[in-house]
Amino acid sequence: TKKLANRVSTLSPSTTLAITAKAKEMKEAGIDVIGLGAGEPDYNTPANILEAAYASMQEGKTKYTPSGGLPALKDAVIEKLKHDQGLDYSRAEIMIGIGAKHVLYTLFQVILDPEDEVIIPTPYWVSYPEQVKLAGGKPVFVDSTSSSQFKVTATQIKEAVTDKTKAVIINSPGNPTGMIYSRQELEQIASVCQEKDIWIISDEIYEKLIYGTEQHVSIAQLSQDAKDRTFIINGVSKSHSMTGWRIGYIAGDKEVVSAMTNLASHSTSNPTTTSQYATIEAYNGPQDAVEEMRKDFESRLERIYPQLVAIPGFKVIKPQGAFYLLPEVSEAMEKTGFSSVDDFAAALLTEAKVAVIPGSGFGSPNTIRLSYATSIDLLEEAVSRIHSFVKANW
Ligand code: PLP
Repeated sequence: TKKLANRVSTLSPSTTLAITAKAKEMKEAGIDVIGLGAGEPDYNTPANILEAAYASMQEGKTKYTPSGGLPALKDAVIEKLKHDQGLDYSRAEIMIGIGAKHVLYTLFQVILDPEDEVIIPTPYWVSYPEQVKLAGGKPVFVDSTSSSQFKVTATQIKEAVTDKTKAVIINSPGNPTGMIYSRQELEQIASVCQEKDIWIISDEIYEKLIYGTEQHVSIAQLSQDAKDRTFIINGVSKSHSMTGWRIGYIAGDKEVVSAMTNLASHSTSNPTTTSQYATIEAYNGPQDAVEEMRKDFESRLERIYPQLVAIPGFKVIKPQGAFYLLPEVSEAMEKTGFSSVDDFAAALLTEAKVAVIPGSGFGSPNTIRLSYATSIDLLEEAVSRIHSFVKANW
């Protein structure tokens, strides 16, 4: 008999995790590998948050909470959205979930019927297409490259819409691109979504990691119509260096949020109680650590960016946010004799001893992704190794 359900038969394993595992294996074998694959900040969670978590446990707050999250945490999220975005939401429009990832998963489960389409700009975060497929939906890709600043236009989205289109995903600041959509670009996208009457899924997980003079605008801020059709997805993983705590949230249409909460009540119950108390402190407590981490990321970017640009055959757009660099390496691959980024990344790992993620996993076959969530010394050493590798094989 057949072991696995059709549902998982087309599920691709995460390329990010595969490279990271190989790098770890090499490290354990005593090989000096520098890992630039990480998708998480390298700082510890701020001390006030750790203390709040510990205090809540000592007070006996270690039991089930409502499936959609503690009312006090929903209120903290409501306050955050009011303060940062000037948006008003009620508790019924918020669900707290197990990281932004699982919130997105739950969202697709409740809005997609078989064959429903979701428009996903490339390069994309690896989990979007897989989650859409797991819900029976169909990912529809709209391409961007470095010549379009790794952003898609409202016109491209409009052209991709069919009578099956349910939603479009906007991830700004983006992973792996680091690009930010401007207010004007978002206005054009919002207007297409209004015209075509589709949902907007706005993944704002990198909101707090923005550099230079850029600003974060949520598409939900642009009009009442945009707010009504947008689901804001966010959380504390990247902003407060809390990846392991697994807390994220959604803000949007209350019928959808209620269905998601219902689904959670039968699948996961509540997100970990201690993590919820920690997150209340993350939102209500001092925000200095958030800004300190942002500044530190920015100074790494400023140091490393020119060094990466100097590598022959690398075309690099300066990212505006998040903590990734996405050089387009077609020329470097051609001159060093590689026909795919997978092979190029594999050679960087085994020969240059640097782990990077091939863009093939992000729907971007000519790029590699480097995370700068590691110390400046290691970053400089890693970039210098990549430089030497390219030069030696040119
Ligand atoms: N969305 C994007 C674009 C991400 O890069 C990530 C994490 O890598 C997530 C969502 C998920 O974050 P969380 O840790 O809250 O599940």
